[in-house]
Amino acid sequence: MRYTEVSMRTLAERLKEASALLAPYAVPIAGTLGRTFNEPEDDTRFPFQRDRDRIIHTQSFRRLKGKTQVFVTGQGDHYRTRLTHTMEVAQISRDIARTLSLNEDLTECIALAHDLGHPPFGHAGEEALNTWMQESGGSFEHNHQSYRIVTLLEERTNQYPGLNLNREVLGGLLKHRTPHDHPENMMDRGPSLEAQLVNIADEIAYTGHDCDDGLKAGLFTLENICSIPLAAHAYERSRDRETSLRGSIIHILVSDLYDMSSKKLNRVRTLDAVYASAEPLIEFSEKMTRELGALRQFLWDHMYLHPKVLEKSTSGKEVVGALCRHLFSHPTAKVKELQKKTQGALEEAVKDYVSGMTDRFALAQAEESHLL
Ligand code: MG
Repeated sequence: MRYTEVSMRTLAERLKEASALLAPYAVPIAGTLGRTFNEPEDDTRFPFQRDRDRIIHTQSFRRLKGKTQVFVTGQGDHYRTRLTHTMEVAQISRDIARTLSLNEDLTECIALAHDLGHPPFGHAGEEALNTWMQESGGSFEHNHQSYRIVTLLEERTNQYPGLNLNREVLGGLLKHRTPHDHPENMMDRGPSLEAQLVNIADEIAYTGHDCDDGLKAGLFTLENICSIPLAAHAYERSRDRETSLRGSIIHILVSDLYDMSSKKLNRVRTLDAVYASAEPLIEFSEKMTRELGALRQFLWDHMYLHPKVLEKSTSGKEVVGALCRHLFSHPTAKVKELQKKTQGALEEAVKDYVSGMTDRFALAQAEESHLL
């Protein structure tokens, strides 16, 4: 068959088909809240598919490959980086969205963008930047930085700042913000189900992959982790099936999420009811919340606070702090350019610059400036 003979369905036809798969409480395929700056929509892609493409093609997204998840990048080729973590969150989010008849494209956008604002050296880097901003009365939090990146810092056109994403995506990134913290009053409404599920998929992804990475790094043994009921249950399942512990942890968590959430969703009929809901509608059962809490505590005690992990992250934290102080007293052309663009304080431009760095670039900059 020649290419010209392949019939191509129109966007309107595909929109109708895709919309028929959605539950009434899902965010519609084309969204309802629109973009900050009006622009014509695409001929072949739905609005959130276009947003996903804008996110993937940013520099911030590419830099995720050089940012720490738990292990500082370069410590081992097989450990998760911020990029592979993001991809795992997107995969789990899309599966959950599809199963619950929610908007898969929107969940993918929120998942792919959720950690864009994460600084180098993981949570240690985040703490260093928060301390830096607190000195001038501000704060640093990676969700808010992700929002700032897609609305202001990234460039795709001279017509507007940022990526001009649909408001449903922006609302999904601001899940932890309070109403006075953001400009568009998006928090007048509660989070969409799509935003709620990405938040949980994030926790499912890092719990699963951190068990995997922690075991591979020898930070704890299988026997150690199986003292926790959720891990013991997952291990039993994985042994029977001859598959991975990580896969079974994800399976057990996602299955519980389906059971609990479908019960809650039975009481919801419309998207407005979701936005008006004071309580989360996508969540684990109480029993699973407790079991997951115990596994999280185990990972804190045996992995995130393990001397091997702490040693690297503590030095990363020092690098981030030293870079902020140095760039504030000796602002480079790049920092000045950022300050001009954002029309903000120098401290903030320094924060924007340093938080965007990969681990490797931050170390190289610190070395070049004789900070190490
Ligand atoms: Mg994450």
